[in-house]
Amino acid sequence: MAQKKKSSIDVGSLTIGTILVLIIGFGIFALVQSFFDGPSISESDYKGQPAIGDPNAPVKVMEFGDYQCPSCKLFNDEVYPKLKEEYIDTGKVQFSFVNYQFMGDDSFNAGEAGEAIFKQSPEAFWKYHQLIFANQENHIPGEWTQEFIIDLVKREIPEVNIEQLSKDLKEGTYKSEVEKDNQLAKGVPVKSVPAAYVNEKPVANSADYEELKKVIEEELAKK
Ligand code: CA
Repeated sequence: MAQKKKSSIDVGSLTIGTILVLIIGFGIFALVQSFFDGPSISESDYKGQPAIGDPNAPVKVMEFGDYQCPSCKLFNDEVYPKLKEEYIDTGKVQFSFVNYQFMGDDSFNAGEAGEAIFKQSPEAFWKYHQLIFANQENHIPGEWTQEFIIDLVKREIPEVNIEQLSKDLKEGTYKSEVEKDNQLAKGVPVKSVPAAYVNEKPVANSADYEELKKVIEEELAKK
């Protein structure tokens, strides 16, 4: 009887040495692959995060940021308006913001207030998002206490229920939301902010709108 030509690897015929070479080889391949793919997020990470745009948009974009970080302000001032006009307002992208605080208490307070405002009203959250980044310009470290932020919101976003916001901040009602965001960022891991993800894909240089646009177009083309 003619021997059947082998089309797959017969594990039984392999020596221990060959198996080891295969395992090490695959390990190196996986490592190199993950290096090129970059750290990734999953679809479920978008759940419950402040988002703007059509919830059924074909592409989701997530930004990790810190309200004290100058590059995050630059992303907000330079990249975000273009993204909003071209993709969010046209229903192609839903954009989410996730806290990644590494600059201390001011950042944490600003993030926590954002979470509390988001629970009151997603629309008010996006006003606050712009307000706090604008305030970064004259910000003195240590200034963003809960009292300072409450006062700022009271003056600039009258639709926010200030009593509720004060209570939420005093009682730390949404502190865990900020901690959860930070855990997510550390777990990815996010190495620097702003860090943008398009669906589950990291964007190599988030501060470059053209780069972000390229990844969005690649993801849109798949739909
Ligand atoms: Ca959050």
